[in-house]
Amino acid sequence: MQVQANPSSRPSSGNAFRIVILGGGTAGWMCAAGLVRQLDAADYDISLIESDEIGTVGVGEATIPTIRTFHRFLEIDERDFMRATQATFKLGIAFENWARRGDRYIHSFGRVGQSIWMGDFQHMWLRARAEGTGGALGDYCFELTAAEAGKFATGPDAKINYAYHLDASRYAVFLRQFSEARGVTRVEGKIGQVHQHPETGFIEALDLADGRRIEGDLFIDCTGFRGLLIEQTLKAGYEDWSHWLPTNRALAVQTKAVQPALPYTRAIAHEAGWQWQIPLQHRVGNGLVYCSDYLSDDAAHDKLLANIDGETITDPRLIRYVTGRRKRVWDKNCVALGLASGFVEPLESTSIHLIMIGITRLIQSFPFNGIKPALVEHYNALAETELERVRDFIILHYHLTERSDDPFWDRCRTMDIPATLAQRIALFREAALTPQTADDLFQADSWLQVMLGQRLEPASYHHMGHMLSIEHMQRALGDLKGNIASAVARMPTHQAFLDQYCTP
Ligand code: FAD
Repeated sequence: MQVQANPSSRPSSGNAFRIVILGGGTAGWMCAAGLVRQLDAADYDISLIESDEIGTVGVGEATIPTIRTFHRFLEIDERDFMRATQATFKLGIAFENWARRGDRYIHSFGRVGQSIWMGDFQHMWLRARAEGTGGALGDYCFELTAAEAGKFATGPDAKINYAYHLDASRYAVFLRQFSEARGVTRVEGKIGQVHQHPETGFIEALDLADGRRIEGDLFIDCTGFRGLLIEQTLKAGYEDWSHWLPTNRALAVQTKAVQPALPYTRAIAHEAGWQWQIPLQHRVGNGLVYCSDYLSDDAAHDKLLANIDGETITDPRLIRYVTGRRKRVWDKNCVALGLASGFVEPLESTSIHLIMIGITRLIQSFPFNGIKPALVEHYNALAETELERVRDFIILHYHLTERSDDPFWDRCRTMDIPATLAQRIALFREAALTPQTADDLFQADSWLQVMLGQRLEPASYHHMGHMLSIEHMQRALGDLKGNIASAVARMPTHQAFLDQYCTP
């Protein structure tokens, strides 16, 4: 790829470097907050354009633990954030009906057991299981046991790995207040025309429908699925992954809460996709994800409304998408974040994390000295690998199913999968190994929980478990399990903890 340096794309003495963020959804405001926190306001002029008329996608309410790192970077107070966004705590995701109807497992954010240098904990557990003892794998994971018990507690000394469920619209407002208070200029209006340099193609200015013009040096495309700058203007290209991730529609609806908030997301498989339930303090977010080749929009509408608890407080909203990735997320002087950069399905709640990583990477590769080809290629290569790893993990859930009686699932079960994923599955099937690379967002514990949860049975395991006497091993496993059970027994319920933690 050829990227031409744009002479104006660097901070120059006296003139502030102009960063224009187009879009005020979760991606736009996370980007504004991250940049204004890091860059000196005297040298960088950050503006964000958003259109009330267009609005935001309005979903994206489950997160993974890395969001806490982003909040620490922003120095956000957890209680303030939770009150403002009506957030609850999330310890993982309960998958229901995935490998077979009636199945249920939790993919938690916790470590499973204790590993040693020779190998991971599962080898001990598999040996114990072969001896007819050991119990459930989840008994060796603190977060999973707490999730099952509906318990939660955190504090300065608590060692619990968690994320949040949050209200997406309130989160954008929260980050907007954060960003505006630190100098970001918000511009309300709809962009009609984009001006590019006649030779380099670099974006120079955006025209609002009312005639105002916003000029910039670096443009961040956060316009959601539209990709107004990165695709409609720069034609960066899109790699379609729907042959691996075939869902292409979601219907979202909000309901009143009718029970105490669970500390986990529910992902319930149906005949052509799955349904989410995300408990917030003030309401529940629900949605049906499906593939339109196997379920009509009308049938999806009826199915969703028949499978929710509590009165609806919004009308069901249809969202169309194509799973895949933007081929160049940084092109010329434009960087795409959020849905404008690609979308791999909401199943493991990874999009908000990917926005955060995109911002971090942008700060780390910031074009202080102008936009240079190697910098851009480096950024794009990292984004590609990272998204492919996430993609493989999501495909795993669809592919490892025994549901051959539903055409949708049968297609997923029998489809060709990426070679990188096939290799991981083979390693686990042959030898119960869950290798991890530096690029992996999901760690060995995650792969283990999902592979076993999806009924992938290893044919053998490492014999480290045989190096201990069975009595010794049972004692060690019993102690581990007992310590977790008694720690969880002492914790308050998630709802009780929320009530005292988030009370103004
Ligand atoms: P949007 O929210 O669509 O924002 C686009 C912005 O661009 C808006 O402000 C709009 O006004 C503005 N805009 C567009 N065109 C113009 C124009 N011409 N002029 C001016 N402004 C313009 N992620 C998770 O991490 N967890 C989840 O649980 C999760 N669930 C999801 C479920 C579904 C069904 C879908 C589709 C996505 C989900 N995601 C989830 C992804 C998540 O919703 C997005 O990553 C996140 O909301 C960011 O969206 P965005 O800011 O990129 O786009």
